[in-house]
Amino acid sequence: MDKTNTFPPDPEQAAQAAAIAYALAHPVRLQILQLLDESEAYVMHLTNMLGRPQANISQHLAVLREAGLVIAEREGMTVLYRLRSARVRELIGLLSDLAQYASAEGTLPRGRGRRGRRHGRRQGRCNCPRCQ
Ligand SMILES: [Zn+2]
Repeated sequence: MDKTNTFPPDPEQAAQAAAIAYALAHPVRLQILQLLDESEAYVMHLTNMLGRPQANISQHLAVLREAGLVIAEREGMTVLYRLRSARVRELIGLLSDLAQYASAEGTLPRGRGRRGRRHGRRQGRCNCPRCQ
């Protein structure tokens, strides 16, 4: 499964890589991936932690799932989300590192860096079944 040497990929692979890049190209989706890196989670948890409407979070999750970054698993009445693999974890770790450097070098517009707006993140104030 090690295809790192075949880049640039064939058209099908390129399309899949573009879907992944597209999925990554949104701050909220990156925040979702970061939360899923901490632990698998229900939509409710992501909604609570990010302070956004559930419909919005669900849309972002659908994009992440289509790109194959996230796996959804039905659990009774609800769905549990998790990162697809350790590779996805490496990917978001890399992106946070790069964001940190960019932010330190002042290459991001004011207020959009790592220390920018927190999107209403409220650690420890989630009432989803897993946080109870
Ligand atoms: Zn929770």
